[in-house]
Amino acid sequence: MSSEPAAPPAHPEEVARLAGEADAEIAAVSDRRGWEAVRIRWIGRREGRVRELLDLIPRVADKRGFGQAVNRLKERVEAALAAADERLAAAERAAQRREAAVDVTLPGRRVPGGAIHPVIQISREIEEIFVRLGYTVAEGPEVESDRYNFELLNFPPDHPARDTQDTFFLEDGRLLRTHTSPVQIRTMLARRPPLRVIIPGRVYRHDNDLRHSPMFHQVEGLAVAEGIRFSDLKGTLEAFLHRLFSPETGVRLRPSFFPFTEPSCEVDITCPFCRGKGCATCSETGWMEILGAGMVDPRVLAGCGVDPDRYTGFAFGLGLDRVAMIRFGIPNIRLLFENDERLLRQAGIR
Ligand SMILES: [Zn+2]
Repeated sequence: MSSEPAAPPAHPEEVARLAGEADAEIAAVSDRRGWEAVRIRWIGRREGRVRELLDLIPRVADKRGFGQAVNRLKERVEAALAAADERLAAAERAAQRREAAVDVTLPGRRVPGGAIHPVIQISREIEEIFVRLGYTVAEGPEVESDRYNFELLNFPPDHPARDTQDTFFLEDGRLLRTHTSPVQIRTMLARRPPLRVIIPGRVYRHDNDLRHSPMFHQVEGLAVAEGIRFSDLKGTLEAFLHRLFSPETGVRLRPSFFPFTEPSCEVDITCPFCRGKGCATCSETGWMEILGAGMVDPRVLAGCGVDPDRYTGFAFGLGLDRVAMIRFGIPNIRLLFENDERLLRQAGIR
């Protein structure tokens, strides 16, 4: 126990005078913690001022008058605390309203706009170019049979592309298509010539490095009619590549081999980065390989019930991802499929 600083009150009037002291303390309360401290100091059940006064009753002369004064003080403190509680609650509500209030002078929040994925942009652009040339867009399943993916496309049974190193096989013997070419087969089986289709889609191969992804996108074209010649293929590809890149783009055909075309060629364009002068991207050659093409092999036509003596056709195919990488300057194919918003936004600004 600490020493008493002053003699304890002994008369009812002295108790009444304490009310002013309590009023002043309660009026100064500005938050919940202060309010609670004042409450404990005055009407705390074990050691508040009122408790101390009640304990004095047996020792004062006017026990009845003193006791009544203590009760009045207690009631007054309780009422003042209740009023202070109201005041704090009102202040809290006002603060909440201020926080929630809408400041109409603030600038609006911009809703980020979506952008079309670079590969889809390129795909649509290519489809558009060919639709204007009279082609229709065709699609097919990504899970294919060996017959449509290889056999009818003239892949011999021992062709390396059939190896599990390249192809994802399903347990039931079907596979994830390794190219969009089975849609050519499906089109020829379903429709009679003349036909002209453009076929975009996802394809799958066991490949994963900076330039290859196990899933990638191709677009293929197929034209079958009477009298189609190699020069039609060359003219079509030149018109297409000039639209896709620029009218100044040089186009060069090199002999090549594909099982389903004969003759076959690979097609180069002048490097879009150095315009043919030679740079690191084109390995200083000035040229970039962009697609494969050829005249549809008569055996493929015959396999699909198209008379090779009457009809001829050409086919071509290219990687959409590669075109998107060239067009948008994307160095790594995996960037295309990581859904990084920054890449999508960059491509969307174009
Ligand atoms: Zn170059």
